[in-house]
Amino acid sequence: MLRKTMIAGNWKMNGDASNLSYFKELASSIVPNSAADVLVCPPVTLLARAVEACQGSSIQLGAQDCHVAQSGAHTGDIAVSMLKDAGAAYVIVGHSERRADHAETNEMVQCKAEAVLSQGLKPIICIGETLADRESGLAQEVVGAQLAGSVPKEGADNLVIAYEPVWAIGTGLTASLDDIASMHAFIRAQLAEPEITQILYGGSVKPGNAAEILALQDVDGALVGGASLTADNFSMIVNAV
Ligand code: PEP
Repeated sequence: MLRKTMIAGNWKMNGDASNLSYFKELASSIVPNSAADVLVCPPVTLLARAVEACQGSSIQLGAQDCHVAQSGAHTGDIAVSMLKDAGAAYVIVGHSERRADHAETNEMVQCKAEAVLSQGLKPIICIGETLADRESGLAQEVVGAQLAGSVPKEGADNLVIAYEPVWAIGTGLTASLDDIASMHAFIRAQLAEPEITQILYGGSVKPGNAAEILALQDVDGALVGGASLTADNFSMIVNAV
């Protein structure tokens, strides 16, 4: 099999030192020899301590954003080399919350993804339409433009795409299985190397719906927000693979 399944958790702006016990709990709740790669993206303040807490387990750690430059006068920003130094293996780029809150454009997201690849880490590039886009019949057009504009032209085997309809993030709404299947097939058809690039689905994935979503042909895993915050829920999603 060319593409392994990945279950990635995005803690967003949640968590502090009191949550570090999560990692031992998660490691002990995942079935041995799980078929899934497991990734957790805590806030950057916890990254190095999370890496320590995960030693001896197969859980990988990632970051939620990065700057495009590798150093310099960018107060408050974090370079990919720093995330690598802290132990990150992946970096989420272009999450819809960053596109909305920080006016990140496709071009900026592409530059961030290239910066991640240049340091030997893997970007998880988020794309997805808004409810208005979907209701106007523009979902594929918008997602196609995001793909064309945000995904680096090189490095197909080291990047991950996360299709996350914006209206399904944190709302409890999930896209229908038919809509997920057809959008993932559409995305796969646009990729430079369709057989090797992983495409994750994100948007209110939880223990109750994970198995049916993960069973879809072009779904190579999930990016999970809210349900990744407890080891109990997140391990159930991992164990659904
Ligand atoms: C996300 O933040 O990427 C996400 C999918 O969130 P949730 O699972 O809470 O919808």
